[in-house]
Amino acid sequence: MTSVPFDLICTGCGATYDPPRLHCDRCDALLRSRHASVTFDPHDRPDLFAFQDWIPPSKACQIPIGSSVYRSVGLADALGLSNLAIAFSGYAPSIGAANPTGSFKDFEAIPTMLYYREHGIDALILASAGNTARAFAYAAIQLDYPVIIVVPERAVPQLSIPCPPTDAVCLIALEACDDYATAIREAARIGTVLGVANEGGARNVARRDGMSTAILEYARTLNALPDHYVQAIGSGTGAIATWEATQRLLDAGLGDHLPTLHLSQNAPFTPIHDAWSKGTPIRPDDHVEEQLERIERIDAHVLANRTPPYDVPGGVRDALTATNGRTYAISNAEAREAADLFLRSEGLPIGPAASVAAASLRHAVRTGAIASSDAVMLHITGNSDLLLKQDFQMHPIVPRWIVRPEALTDNRILEEKIRLAHWL
Ligand SMILES: *Cc1c(COP(=O)(O)O)cnc(C)c1O
Repeated sequence: MTSVPFDLICTGCGATYDPPRLHCDRCDALLRSRHASVTFDPHDRPDLFAFQDWIPPSKACQIPIGSSVYRSVGLADALGLSNLAIAFSGYAPSIGAANPTGSFKDFEAIPTMLYYREHGIDALILASAGNTARAFAYAAIQLDYPVIIVVPERAVPQLSIPCPPTDAVCLIALEACDDYATAIREAARIGTVLGVANEGGARNVARRDGMSTAILEYARTLNALPDHYVQAIGSGTGAIATWEATQRLLDAGLGDHLPTLHLSQNAPFTPIHDAWSKGTPIRPDDHVEEQLERIERIDAHVLANRTPPYDVPGGVRDALTATNGRTYAISNAEAREAADLFLRSEGLPIGPAASVAAASLRHAVRTGAIASSDAVMLHITGNSDLLLKQDFQMHPIVPRWIVRPEALTDNRILEEKIRLAHWL
């Protein structure tokens, strides 16, 4: 095992731990990585491993992941902004964005597997609402690292990747289910029964540090911090990660204030926006049927998370509070309009989630929350598959097991063990 130049510090009580670990022994707060290097000194390479000093794996790999940051002309003009930069975290070779599954989930998957592998954990289980499954499946195949991925059946048709699947990926689909929260719960149980480590979601520091590289790329490209960071969120993990990275950048002497977080959700399913606007906690188990009915109606399904890390110390609410942040509820119609505007003004097709972010930027400019000369980073977290399909044959990931959540007893899971995880 290699020794790595970072440890974990609890954002609640300050306890410190050796990695890897998901929970503090003393409280419920998120653990955060504390990297030995406090200077911002990117290495000379085009991908996110340029920020190796501030992400957990100590080794890099050659898969071309990372954000492409450029100054906007077209969209900036259309919105009346003089200092707008776009961080494009999808697949668009014309601007140097080569993320293999077309979203910033690629930044989470590869660093996570390298990190756990360095610490002797040789397989993982995780849940996904869609894009995470694509990214982790692709990474698993490239790195030959076994993963079990649990998804609601509703997500399966979207799960294609630009390489043929191998035995490294085991997909479990929850039949007649459209609820990511159920997938999270069942993944935790299957992992416990089979003895496979849980990837950890927002609690996994490799995931957060990987996502944080979008704003690090902004800092490297423009040698500054933005005044505003604009992103569509489901869990808000990318927002927490960005807040954490900007604290590191300030400590390193770059910038003089934390960027304000502008976080958007797709109406009518907007739990974080509702909680933040009303000052109430999120209650994932209240009115579940109504929540699921709202989830049905949104275009950006990857944003549908009933159990985001909002109230937890070190989570989304703390990030919004610390940065004087704002949240937005964006309708499907507004998001589609913003996608059209982005295509016309920037020439690139973006996905439903990124369209929600673009629409919220428009909203923030109209209401004066963002002034025309402010420095803005719009995070395009993923694009439509159009450009990937032009360059690659896309392969579906076929579920190895389709099962109703009610039928997932411990005994049934054990009966399926060899089929699900022959490598155990
Ligand atoms: C997952 C995802 C998001 C939301 O990210 P979080 O910060 O985890 O809430 C936004 N856009 C795309 C394309 C995604 O796949």
